Amino acid sequence: MARLFAGTKFDIPPTCDRCGKAEQDCECPDITPAKTLVEPSRQLARIAVEKRKKGKVVTVITGLAAADNDLASICTRLKNACGAGGTVDGDSIEIQGQHAQAVSELLASIGYKVKITNETVKKK
Ligand SMILES: [Zn+2]
Repeated sequence: MARLFAGTKFDIPPTCDRCGKAEQDCECPDITPAKTLVEPSRQLARIAVEKRKKGKVVTVITGLAAADNDLASICTRLKNACGAGGTVDGDSIEIQGQHAQAVSELLASIGYKVKITNETVKKK
């Protein structure tokens, strides 16, 4: 953008929107999207069905790091596809009930590699 008052006493050096410093003093990294997502095809989603207390069954998806994926939006899509509740918990997604097949199909349709495991997911 041209600076209308460049060279006059009205000229105010442009400042960074993020740090507020003059642009020449700014050390902010180049503007990048809030999150740099990793290609789904380069990630393996592991799907496990866990039995919990009182007979509660949850389908747990691990292997997708929260930093690399929009887990909240994936969780929403899974909940809709399964017609079940679910939450994002750190780097995992939990969907209420036994939905390994539906979860696997939806994640595969997004492009993820998927593996249904019988591993016990470590509980916090
Ligand atoms: Zn800055």
